[in-house]
Amino acid sequence: MEEYIVSARKYRPSAFDTVVGQESLTTTLKNAIAAGKLAHAYLFCGPRGVGKTTCARIFAKTINCLNPSETGEACDECESCKAFNEQRSLNIHELDAASNNSVEEIRALIEKVRIPPQVGKYKVFIIDEVHMLSSAAFNAFLKTLEEPPSYVIFILATTEKHKILPTILSRCQVYDFNRMSIQSIVNHLQFVAEKEGYSFEPEALNIIAQKADGGMRDALSIFDQTVSFTEGNLTYQKVIETLNVLDYEYYFRLVDHFLKNEPAQCMLTFNEILERGFEGSHFITGLASHLRDLLVSKDAVTLPLLEVSNNVRARYQEQAQRCQSKFLYKAIKLCSDCDLNYRTSKNKRLLVEITLIQLSQLTLEDDTVSSGRSPEKTLKPLFTQPTEVAQKTTPVNQSAPKIQTEKVASNVQDRTSTYQTRQSPLPQKQEEEKSKPKIKMGVFGTSIRKKEKTEEQVVTNTTNTIISAQNSVPTNNNQEYEDYPVTEDNICFYWHEFINLMPQEETAMAQRMKVTRPKLLKDENFEVVVDNEQVKIYMEQMKRRIETHMRKQLHNRRITMNIRVADAKETTRIYSKPQQYQAMCKENPALLKLQDIFKLELK
Ligand SMILES: [Zn+2]
Repeated sequence: MEEYIVSARKYRPSAFDTVVGQESLTTTLKNAIAAGKLAHAYLFCGPRGVGKTTCARIFAKTINCLNPSETGEACDECESCKAFNEQRSLNIHELDAASNNSVEEIRALIEKVRIPPQVGKYKVFIIDEVHMLSSAAFNAFLKTLEEPPSYVIFILATTEKHKILPTILSRCQVYDFNRMSIQSIVNHLQFVAEKEGYSFEPEALNIIAQKADGGMRDALSIFDQTVSFTEGNLTYQKVIETLNVLDYEYYFRLVDHFLKNEPAQCMLTFNEILERGFEGSHFITGLASHLRDLLVSKDAVTLPLLEVSNNVRARYQEQAQRCQSKFLYKAIKLCSDCDLNYRTSKNKRLLVEITLIQLSQLTLEDDTVSSGRSPEKTLKPLFTQPTEVAQKTTPVNQSAPKIQTEKVASNVQDRTSTYQTRQSPLPQKQEEEKSKPKIKMGVFGTSIRKKEKTEEQVVTNTTNTIISAQNSVPTNNNQEYEDYPVTEDNICFYWHEFINLMPQEETAMAQRMKVTRPKLLKDENFEVVVDNEQVKIYMEQMKRRIETHMRKQLHNRRITMNIRVADAKETTRIYSKPQQYQAMCKENPALLKLQDIFKLELK
């Protein structure tokens, strides 16, 4: 099998001209090199993954090049350049201060400073995350920084400029790296996709760029994962599914409803969004961004602030033309208020719904204000088409046995009840029920976790209850076991906990893992089935982290994880709710019986 190289490494720029999104900065560096005006210390500041270390390496290569071009680029052909490109040059030393921040490390580095270079002119020392150096290390370093030998150049890099001591700042030439624009990330992704022969839609790349939040390295790693999940066919639909991004169609639709004063339609749309598994807070921040995008597309001056692909740009402009600025200001304010109150709100769904109702009344208020002469100042009725709405909700209400089902089901199996509650439609009172699965999960989680703090007995009891609820394993009260018993539900719970703790650049992986259900095979060995070899490679890389997490949380040192590529006909993901249900029935045929007895139907 051909060796797989991640795109961030494969397409790492090797000349200033190929560095993406930092043109003004690279030009300055090139000019300085061409003019031979070099400082002995540089400080590169900026967010992660925007090319600080890359530029530092190119800089080191270029100043050591034996035949640099007039424009200040390296020749890539001389002995020194070759050594750099093959990563065997002795003129470059990199220290990651995040992990090597002791005085000893700095002393070792200072020792190296004393020896002049054998080939080439300069020795370059790159110290990454320099703000992480201990204060003792800082002090040891300061002297060398003050009076370095003429052949030494320091390049310090940091993501947190404010943490750099003034004594260091004053000795360095400071370069501020910008967060990359969506457009330059998209351009680069397009370049990579074309080189690799992937098919793509511009909107899809745009979504990846947005998700990466201005960092090229993150963008490329999300890109790599998305490519493997979509098997090299990056369509907008597939990418939003993989990255769990809410389709912008919803926002366009909602704003249309706001303008037409249709609160009922808004609430139905919101319900649809919730049913697709999106969080209310996620939705409301997305809506705020959409409104902001509309605001900036109203004016030609602010139009450059709109970072969407060209195809969608026209749609934004079209919708923006139909919105008054005043409406947009107020709407953004309402969304931001909702976002602020979201965390503390007890009924989050209602909070969002009220906001939606207010949003769809904004232009109504406008009417009454602008036509101030009109004698009647009454608000128009909220629901303009009551009959239509009622018709839509009634059939749902008729599913009477639902509540009964819930009770029974929750007695049988926790997962079943979760499923049933999720299935039940949520008009009126049952809205509260919607949050039920989460609370349940939370309670379940806390009780397990409590084992760290409270008596062991509580734990064993809880675990046993879960096991007996599963009605499979006979309970084992033996407290002498150091390793606690493991159930599939426990594994699943901490699997999701693990996913929630995954960092930004693993978003795509996290989304994929969310729809994968680990299966307990035997004792402490659980299995995860993945789509293809590529995903398996990713999984293998995470295996240890996942196992460590499980072992720690479940107090069982023998937990191991198996990764297997799915057979041709096997589905690895549980897509829709009916499919989820079928999968559950396969595991537990008693469910079918239950469904039969109570004459339940799947909505
Ligand atoms: Zn050269």
